[in-house]
Amino acid sequence: MCGKISNTTYSNFLVLFDQHAVDERVRLERNLVDYFDGISWKSVSIDVVSFQISQEDLIFLLNNYDKLTKFGLQWSVADNVISINGIPEAILGKNPRQADLILKAAKHLLVELIDCMKYAKGNIPLYPKSIMELVFSEACRYAVKFGDTLSKDNCVSLIKALATCKSPFQCAHGRPVNLEKVTRWKKCE
Ligand SMILES: [Zn+2]
Repeated sequence: MCGKISNTTYSNFLVLFDQHAVDERVRLERNLVDYFDGISWKSVSIDVVSFQISQEDLIFLLNNYDKLTKFGLQWSVADNVISINGIPEAILGKNPRQADLILKAAKHLLVELIDCMKYAKGNIPLYPKSIMELVFSEACRYAVKFGDTLSKDNCVSLIKALATCKSPFQCAHGRPVNLEKVTRWKKCE
C-alpha cells in the first residue's frame, strides 16, 4: 500500500488485519443494534420460569419495575415467587443457545440489576455484564476463525463492513484489530 503523508513525502506501508477480530467487531456492532436501541433492550417472550426470591429483593424489584423492563425483563410476582415471561433478546441470541445457559443468564441479570439498585444507588449500567458476556461470546463464536481461508471478495467486504463500525480498531474483547508496519520512506521528486 502506498500513501501520501504530506505534500512531498510518501511512504510504503503494510496494514495487517486479524480476520477473526475484524469479523467479531462487525458482528458485535450489528447484533447490538438489533438488541439495544440506546434506551431499552429488546424483549422476547419465553415460557414462564418461576423461582423464589427474598422479601428484600422483592421490594427492590417492585420499587424499580420501570427500570427493569428497560432491560427486557418481563415478570410478575406472587408471594415470594417471581415468574419471568420475557427476557432480553440478547440473552436468547440469534443462534441456538442451550436453555440452561439462557435461564442462568436471565437469573444473573436479575441479580446484577438488584445488586446495582442495592449497592450502587440505583445506577444501573446501560450494558449489564450478564447481557454483554453473551453478546461478546456470540460475536466471537460465529466469526470467521484465524485459519479460515477467505476469498479476496470476502476480505474486501469484511474491511468495508469494518469501516462502518463505531469502534473499528478493537475486537469484541478489546484486542487491536489491525497492525500497521511502515516499511520505507521516500522523498518525492
Ligand atoms: Zn473471538
